Amino acid sequence: MTSRQTDSSDAASALVKDILDYLLYKGVRQTPALVALLNALAENRLPMPIAQLKNQDSLRSFDLVTIYRLINRLESTRVVRSIAHLGKAKYYQIVVPGRHSECLVCNSCGKLEEIDVTVSLETVKSDITTRSGWQRITPALELLGLCPACSKTAAGGRLSS
Ligand SMILES: [Zn+2]
Repeated sequence: MTSRQTDSSDAASALVKDILDYLLYKGVRQTPALVALLNALAENRLPMPIAQLKNQDSLRSFDLVTIYRLINRLESTRVVRSIAHLGKAKYYQIVVPGRHSECLVCNSCGKLEEIDVTVSLETVKSDITTRSGWQRITPALELLGLCPACSKTAAGGRLSS
């Protein structure tokens, strides 16, 4: 497992390699656009909207339709997950095996922050699947709040700490 993050660029290419192996096993054809998209996602730890992905150097030469199609494929194979960002654009993030994290979204400034959690939604999902008999459960957790900077500003008129 390649979950060490000491050297982010090494970690990113190792992650991309693992994912390409997995996708090959899943029957997903390896194309230059797919490799470029995975690299862009792996190098940027935080979730990004499609528009921002499209602006990455490695992806400039590919059209938006191709990127959309690929990202949907990656999401359905659970290589990528999406986060609804303040009810607006979907933000996409690569799933790092063995890492359990969720994203906090600031209601005020839109800042995103990734935070490690002790129990992953995937664990919750498989537990619920086993116990309920339901299938195709898609866990979706939105963690909306105020980031430290915004809560400082907002606390001015309130008694809360
Ligand atoms: Zn904020």
